[in-house]
Amino acid sequence: YYEQVQQAERLKTTGQMAAAVAHEIRNPLTVVKGFLQYYQENPDLNQSYKRNFSLMIDELHSAEHVISQFLSIAKPDEEKMASSVEMDIILHDVTELLVSYGLRSSTSIELKVEEGCMVKANPIELKQLFINLIKNAIEASPPNGVISVKVKKQKNEVKILVIDEGRGMTRDEVDALGTPFYSLKSKGTGLGLMICFNIVEKYNGKIRFESSQGEGTTAHVTFPLNTEKGPSFTAEKQ
Ligand code: ADP
Ligand code: MG
Repeated sequence: YYEQVQQAERLKTTGQMAAAVAHEIRNPLTVVKGFLQYYQENPDLNQSYKRNFSLMIDELHSAEHVISQFLSIAKPDEEKMASSVEMDIILHDVTELLVSYGLRSSTSIELKVEEGCMVKANPIELKQLFINLIKNAIEASPPNGVISVKVKKQKNEVKILVIDEGRGMTRDEVDALGTPFYSLKSKGTGLGLMICFNIVEKYNGKIRFESSQGEGTTAHVTFPLNTEKGPSFTAEKQ
């Protein structure tokens, strides 16, 4: 196993620029998709055209997906209020959400969370962070793979591990993580980890990856333990 500390700073401005561009592109995409969907529903449309229309709509869908991932970094700050968040709640919500996704390739997720692991952050962003990390773990895993998520307190820190026994990565692959559009998947966006790095940095956390080809990957995330009392995030709906 070898380790690589990831630098998030170099990606900050890239993200901001891309978000501005993404904004301008999203509206026309939505308009074109709307028209295509309208014509596709026309009962007189010939079958082979119908098929082409679906392909066009699917492609626009992918483009929209890329753009909404980008825009999620650029939401105004007032929407991103930080509060004292219990990691137990976040990770239970996230794993519940991902179980359906994992089951498709019969992957299972094991969760082991110590109580009182409080982090000061926006709960929506924390969920986004762990959805991305666990989704990657699922996508790297073989059928019947097991993903293990562990959370514990260590001194003044909360440590979260996302461990998979999947394909693993070479040193070069680990080095490339977080670079915008870096993806080895045919349908990947290569934006997931860039977003993760941004979120971790925003709340003074750290993230690094430990990986071995053919053996698996562990993502290590650390946040400062929040000890101050204040408005806290419990089970309320988002
Ligand atoms: P995407 O998932 O859309 O490809 P990400 O930014 O989430 O984009 O990940 C970038 C790339 O990093 C992936 O395409 C994959 O090659 C690699 N990667 C990330 N997580 C893992 C993992 N747990 N195991 C193996 N490779 C991974
Ligand atoms: Mg991903």
